[in-house]
Amino acid sequence: MSTNTDPAEIAKFSEFAHRWWDPSSEFRPLHEINPLRLDHIDRQAGLAGKSVLDVGCGGGILAEAMAQRGAHVTGIDAAERPLKVAQLHLYESGHVIDYRLMTVEQLATERVSAFDIVTCMELLEHVPDPRSTVAACARLLKPGGAAFFSTINRNPKAYLFAIVGAEYVLRLLPRGTHDYAKLIKPSELAAMCRHAGLDVAGVIGMTYNPVTRRYALEHDTDVNYIMQCRAG
Ligand code: SAH
Repeated sequence: MSTNTDPAEIAKFSEFAHRWWDPSSEFRPLHEINPLRLDHIDRQAGLAGKSVLDVGCGGGILAEAMAQRGAHVTGIDAAERPLKVAQLHLYESGHVIDYRLMTVEQLATERVSAFDIVTCMELLEHVPDPRSTVAACARLLKPGGAAFFSTINRNPKAYLFAIVGAEYVLRLLPRGTHDYAKLIKPSELAAMCRHAGLDVAGVIGMTYNPVTRRYALEHDTDVNYIMQCRAG
């Protein structure tokens, strides 16, 4: 595996991988945000008939949903157990997805300019060098292709909501899921994208209301956000 993988992160995601498709498990937030991000990607880039790469696909929640919308999906992940869960789940769903155990840097040496859309959701805050991940995603995109990166902002509010709130108060996520120092400001992600030759096309926030227990896409990018880019 390339050096841009943190073994502790791989161990974290492997530990609970068998519960990936249980909507009441540690992965519940991913299940709940999935329809929102899926609609956003489909609205912005049109999934039907497109070749799509899902980077850090885990158990395949987004990959399968995109395949259901008619995309030809390749899913890659650096962890073996989540990927096995993803592969097994295809027997249940009947979707066809090309799952591979590798990092995006490895794939970028093989498949330059191969994809219409690259999605990289909830991954950048778990890799040692997010710049390298973004650059590899850019290399894999066809000219004019669209990339979607989601991650967590870094500021006191994000610390309170995404770490204290989600991991300690509401216990939506296991403690230690996110490390404050690895969270990424939209301005920092935008700089990484531009450095990789991508144009930033838009940023949208993803908010969680603890009272209604509902997620929504909004202008507020203080905590979770999705950045959309276009390859030149
Ligand atoms: N993108 C999915 C899963 C997010 S969880 C979703 O949003 O539904 C983060 C995933 O990134 C885990 O499956 C973990 O194994 C994977 N991962 C961690 N480091 C990675 C790396 N360096 N390269 C590829 N995948 C990685």
